[in-house]
Parts: sequence; C-alpha cells; structure tokens
Amino acid sequence: MNWDFTNKVVLVTGASRGIGQGIAEAFLHAGAVVLATATSEAPTAWMADRMAAGEPLHYIQADFSVPGWQDALMAAIERLGGVDVCINNAGINKVADVREVDPDDYRRILEVNLVAPALLTGLVAPLMIRRGGGRIVNISSIFGIGSRAGRISYSSSKAGLLGQTRAAALDLAPQGVLVNAVAPGFVRTELTERVLGEQGMADAASRLPMRRLAEVADIVPAVLFLASAQNSYITGQVLAVDGGYLAE
Ligand code: NAP
Repeated sequence: MNWDFTNKVVLVTGASRGIGQGIAEAFLHAGAVVLATATSEAPTAWMADRMAAGEPLHYIQADFSVPGWQDALMAAIERLGGVDVCINNAGINKVADVREVDPDDYRRILEVNLVAPALLTGLVAPLMIRRGGGRIVNISSIFGIGSRAGRISYSSSKAGLLGQTRAAALDLAPQGVLVNAVAPGFVRTELTERVLGEQGMADAASRLPMRRLAEVADIVPAVLFLASAQNSYITGQVLAVDGGYLAE
C-alpha cells in the first residue's frame, strides 16, 4: 500500500533500532516529517545518514526512566509546529520470576513502557486537537494479552498499556484523536535476541503457527494503517500481529 503522510508530523519513540526504526523509516518514506527519540545524546547511525541526506528527520534525546524528559521533547515538537501522529514504541523488558523481581527493575519497566506513553499522550493530544485531530498508536505485546513465566514486569506494563489505550481513546474520541494499540508477537530484533537468544528464537519460531518469527516489516503496516486517515473509525482497539500465536 502507498501510504501518504505528506504534511504530517509524526513522533516515534524508541526509534534508534528495531521496530521503532522500521516505523520511523516507513513514515519518512510516506512523506512525513519525523521526530525520533531514543536515550543517546546523539542520533544513531541510520538517523545521521538520513539527516545528512536532507530527509525531514529530527532527533531528540528522551530517556523515559529519568524524570523531566517532557520539556525537551515538547520543545522539539513545538519547533516543528505541532504533531499529528504519536507512536509510543519505546519499551524495555527484563525476565524475572515474580518471587525474584527487583523492585527498581519493575518500576523502571513500568516507567518506560506504561507511564511515559500516558504522559506523552496527555501532552500531545491537545496539540493534535489544535490541528483538527490525530492518531496515537501504542506498541503493546502479545504478552499484554497472554503471558508466560518470567514476564511479570513486562506483562504488567503491556497489559496496562492496553487499558490505557482504551481509556485514552474514550477521553479523546470526541475531538477526533484515535488511540489504538498494536500487539506484536515474536519479532526478530535486538530485544528478542537479548531475551531469548538464538536457540530460544529458533524454538519460538518452531512453535508458532506460521513457523517463523515476525520481521519488523511485518509489524510496520499495521501501525501505519492505524495512524493513517484511512483509519477513520477504529479507536480503543488492539491489533495483534503475531503469526497466529493468540489464535491457538
Ligand atoms: P529494541 O530493539 O530493544 O529497541 C527499543 C527502543 O526503545 C530503542 O530505540 C531504545 O533506545 C528505546 N528505549 C530503551 N530504553 C528506553 C528508555 N529508558 N527511554 C526511552 N527509550 C528507551 O526493541 P524492539 O524489539 O524494537 O521493541 C520495540 C517495542 O515493541 C517495545 O515497546 C517492545 O516492548 C515491543 N515489542 C517487541 C517485540 C519483539 O519481539 N521484539 C514483541 C512485542 C512487542 P536506545 O537505543 O537509546 O536504548
């Protein structure tokens, strides 16, 4: 599908790599002005290359585990004249049994995966409304719907993000800001490699109905659709992109 986001300003959090990078690159390809965030001071190599080529990509450091990230990010949005689309993609994971979970890790995961999207949604929504409406897409997970051993922190955050999606959708529906979630299955990214390892990824792939992990490119179209004008009446929903995992 040929997406057209010409004249749209799109914020993508956690765009340094993985799913966020794929989403940001797809929006650039579709003509959007993209504001990308990650935790490093400087943009990562792929971003620097795009900027050097004159593409409308902007970078701002935003570490959601450190209080006070809002000011610089909102100033960057103001410099771009506002925002039409926000993709809450940044996320972290740490596997731990409920009996061994470190309270600081638990709080940090909630802070990045759950608190930051809520605060950011609250900040960008008025700017979207000023421009006549907008789209927010939260990147949750199949582990926000189901779960598995060791995912107490991650599942708490990703299930919470689905509740947040529904609540924000209801708050913002009258003003034309549609809020939805995408729940990816197992995607081949650094995060998955770190958590599962090569053998774990091979095992997961063999058990999936489609017998393969998702690539980032499998996730991106669902996000662009929910963020697009073609999505004119879907709000408060979650779209699982999981190769059939939840259907079993
Ligand atoms: P990834 O490769 O690990 O990338 C994570 C992104 O989040 C990076 O850009 C990272 O920036 C950013 N980030 C990390 N800590 C942050 C913090 N404290 N504050 C702000 N940004 C931070 O992850 P991914 O696999 O692409 O996952 C992207 C999203 O999809 C996450 O929300 C994840 O939970 C979700 N998801 C992934 C899978 C999967 O199988 N991979 C499945 C379901 C859902 P830095 O480079 O600066 O660290």
